Amino acid sequence: MQELRQDPVTGRWVVIAPIRGKRPKEYEQTPKPLPSITAEECPFCPGNEHLTPPEVYAVRDVDSEPDKPGWQIRVVPNKFPAFSQNPSPLNDSHSFIKRAAFGYHEVVIHSPRHDEEISAMPVERLVKLIEVYKLRCVQIGSDPNIKYVHIIVNHGVESGASLEHAHSQIFGLPLVPEGLQDELGGSLWFSQSKERCVFCWMLEEEMKTGQRVLFENTHFLAVAPFASRFPFEIWLLPKRHSPSFETVKQGEIGDLAHTISKVISAYNCKLGNPSYNFFIHTAPCDGSDYHYFHWHAEVFPRISSLGAFELGTQIMINPTAPERAVELLS
Ligand SMILES: [Zn+2]
Ligand SMILES: [Zn+2]
Ligand SMILES: [Zn+2]
Repeated sequence: MQELRQDPVTGRWVVIAPIRGKRPKEYEQTPKPLPSITAEECPFCPGNEHLTPPEVYAVRDVDSEPDKPGWQIRVVPNKFPAFSQNPSPLNDSHSFIKRAAFGYHEVVIHSPRHDEEISAMPVERLVKLIEVYKLRCVQIGSDPNIKYVHIIVNHGVESGASLEHAHSQIFGLPLVPEGLQDELGGSLWFSQSKERCVFCWMLEEEMKTGQRVLFENTHFLAVAPFASRFPFEIWLLPKRHSPSFETVKQGEIGDLAHTISKVISAYNCKLGNPSYNFFIHTAPCDGSDYHYFHWHAEVFPRISSLGAFELGTQIMINPTAPERAVELLS
């Protein structure tokens, strides 16, 4: 049974084309290992602080020195940044449009332990990590040249990660990316025509039926979106309406940490430790009013690849209906 489903936020269509009877074990793949390096060679391991640019922030022991061991979480500029505060000057571009890649590109090293993956971190440490996200988000977003702050985790070789030591990346961009503009445009349209937030509406609908809800606590809902683009895609929706991630409150951070841990543990347990991508969508920090937007996080395992149909049409074909995905992950 194939179905075209429309995402209520962006209006984009996906094809849900389930492969009948596929069992959880059949989704399991042996993740390819990242190039193996020892703790002595790893630029993110304690003792190798000199292998990264100087830290911009760290959660560290009171008596420890910057760029020395004694940290629990460490934030450093990316050694090979996509965006930089000192971008190379531009040559004449004639008719094609270009601009300097001004921005921030930071790495957040999750733990001094080389092999500590997110789902293995105690929730209190995950709380600290989210607090660091919030802090850097506020700091980078206060730069008047920055329009959007993007927080991501790439885990495993299929995700685009290049180092196995667990880390996140934070980008400060001089523009609002297209993917987010689609969500902003759809959210504005929905709020103007229906006089409410599309994400608040979605939360209510999903809680009513529960058939796509993977996990729920006081402040968050982990749900497989109705028009999931990828197998086992999960959205983490805060129940309190707020446009910006950086307004997240202390009690909510605890619930968010718990929700992230639950989702990644379900992936690891049911899909055999797959590679995954995680990112946060939040309102731009360009000074405009985004009261109609509702921040959230999106996560999906990298167990399917994109073909020419998906790349050429931007219409995803998803072989796992979200209702089935939740059944298999539960
Ligand atoms: Zn390491
Ligand atoms: Zn809302
Ligand atoms: Zn989103």
